[in-house]
Order: sequence, then C-alpha cells, then structure tokens
Amino acid sequence: MNPRTAVFAEEIGANGEVWVRGAGSRVGAPDRIRVVSAPAGVDSFQPDEMTVSCGAGTSVAELDETLRARGQYVNLGQRRHASGTVGGAVATGWNDHLRLGRGHLRESLLEVHMVDGRGDIVKGGGPTVKNVSGFDLCRLVVGAHGRLGALAEVTLRTRPIPPATRWFRLVDLSTTRVVELITRLHRPSSILWDGREAWVCLEGHPSDIDSTVLDLRRHGFATEEVDEEPEPGRRPHRWSVPPSRIVEHVSARVGRVLAEVGVGVIHSDEKQPERSIDPAIAGIHHRLLSSFDPDRRLNPGAGHLPGR
Ligand SMILES: Cc1cc2nc3c(=O)[nH]c(=O)nc-3n(C[C@H](O)[C@H](O)[C@H](O)COP(=O)(O)OP(=O)(O)OC[C@H]3O[C@@H](n4cnc5c(N)ncnc54)[C@H](O)[C@@H]3O)c2cc1C
Repeated sequence: MNPRTAVFAEEIGANGEVWVRGAGSRVGAPDRIRVVSAPAGVDSFQPDEMTVSCGAGTSVAELDETLRARGQYVNLGQRRHASGTVGGAVATGWNDHLRLGRGHLRESLLEVHMVDGRGDIVKGGGPTVKNVSGFDLCRLVVGAHGRLGALAEVTLRTRPIPPATRWFRLVDLSTTRVVELITRLHRPSSILWDGREAWVCLEGHPSDIDSTVLDLRRHGFATEEVDEEPEPGRRPHRWSVPPSRIVEHVSARVGRVLAEVGVGVIHSDEKQPERSIDPAIAGIHHRLLSSFDPDRRLNPGAGHLPGR
C-alpha cells in the first residue's frame, strides 16, 4: 500500500460528513461539508503486464499521456469525459459510446485501496487475476459514487491503442436493415442509431476496416466515412433498456433519440419513461451502505442511490 493512502485515511477520519472531490467537472460538493481530495500521480506503469497504478486523484488526461507514450490506454470512458479524475470516472462509472467494442469501464479496475465510513483502509482485487480472493469489491465500487468508500489508489488494466479508429455514417437504415447491419459487422466499437441513420465505429488494422466497409457496400449499405460521430451527450436524458429491445424503443421514437445498439443505452430529448426500483434491489443497496458506511458520512446524497 502506498503510504499516502494512510495519510488520506487520517484526513477522512472516522467522524463527520466528508465529500471526496475529483476535478469537480460534474458534481459540486454540497454546502457546509468537509471536502477532501484523493492522492494524485502515477505510481507504476508496467506496459508488459498491461497494468498501471495511480492515485485516484490523478487526472485522466495525465494518465492518458503516460500510457500513450507506450502505445496504451485505459478504458475509463474518456471519449465522453476526458477532463475528470480517475476516481471521478470510477466512482460514477459512466461509460462512453465505445462500450460495445471496448467493454465496460468496470472491467478496467483490477485493484482498489479505499477508506470506508469507519475510516478503515479496505483493499479489493489484485493486480493480476491469480492474486484475487474474496469478494469482488472492484465491481461494487464502480458506479457507487464513492458511497461505499473514498477511493485512494487504483490499479487499472491497460490495452493497446488500436492502430486505427474510424467512423462511418450509414443512411436509410430501417429496422430490418439495422438488424442486418449488426450481423454483418465483426466486433464494431460502436453503433449509434436514430431510427433512420447510423454511425458505426470500427477499430483495428486499416486494411481490416477497409474490407469490412467494402463488404457493407457490396451488400447495399450506403457507407460514408466521417470525421466525427454525433455527440450522444448533447441529448439531455439517458436511460437503459435490454439490448434486445433497442429496435422496438428506437422505432417508437425515430429521429428523437440516439441509441447505442448492442449496449442498450438511449440518449433522448425526452425524459426517461417512468420506472420503479425493485424493492429487493433497494434493499441490497441499503445493506451495502450499512456495511461500508453505517453513518452515511461519505459523499452524502451522491448518485441518488436508493437506501438513503
Ligand atoms: C450527475 C452526473 C451527471 C453526469 N453527466 C455527464 C454528462 O452529461 N456527460 C458526460 O460526459 N459525463 C457525465 N457524467 C460523468 C462525469 O463526467 C464523469 O463522472 C467524470 O469522470 C467526473 O470526474 P471528476 O473528477 O470531475 O469527478 P467529480 O465531478 O469531482 O465527482 C463525481 C462524483 O465522484 C465522486 N468522487 C470523485 N473522486 C472520488 C474518489 N476518489 N473517491 C470516491 N468518490 C469520488 C464525487 O464525490 C462525486 O460524487 C456525469 C456524472 C454525474 C455524477
């Protein structure tokens, strides 16, 4: 454990409400609450092992720069939010729209040292899969908005930067054609669809991408390369549906939504249709909060999690 984690734990202490601030790019601390910042800086980068360890207060931009020098990156959803910290990205668990190909941010977190509500340092996971035993704490803390623990240090899985990342726009894509498109693409990184047009991201070797595009054109898909994709975050609302029901949801809202096909996220101008939280799930949230932070003193109110 890095000694600065112990200093961070002391700063958090065992009493009183505390807000862990990242870069503050999205959420500000509530009024009249003690604010702390996680340690920052890259501790060790092992390109051959494809892991990097850093303080959770490290900026995603700094981490990207360190990894880029060796042709690697870590999937923290930074296509959407490059300005925050590693801790902010892990705590909120927001993926970007390349999740279909690059996977969930959750898979990037291999090890975490955090400070729980009692002020104790808790470790979860390990830098290599064979070292891991016990509960999979890493999966729990991604998206928990820092309510289970203040993230101090993390070890993340790195990946090679793809030789090429290219976007293509496809027009006249009815429901049946989008289903056919999905079957024709081999591991696309993203398919965004508004009910009429789609934007497809292909990553890998340029010659493989070229042959995929040729194949699409041969099968009648009007495919044009574009410099950039539409920004899904420009639509104010966002909700999830089972990926198998995406066609049905988009067909009912043609041109008014942008859907991440294969993932099930819908970006919309309209509010999410009303839905209730399963009391069993709310109960699990409540029990988890009670185990890690019985006094609810860490990031109070963050993430609007059920179970207070
Ligand atoms: C309400 C909300 C709306 C968002 N909307 C968008 C959007 O429209 N578009 C988009 O691209 N992204 C959005 N995001 C994602 C956001 O951009 C990313 O979460 C970003 O990485 C935040 O980084 P930050 O360092 O600025 O975190 P901050 O904004 O400072 O903090 C975000 C949350 O994480 C907690 N946190 C930060 N660091 C730690 C730590 N070390 N330990 C424990 N908890 C910590 C904070 O207490 C806070 O609750 C949103 C996130 C939230 C929570």
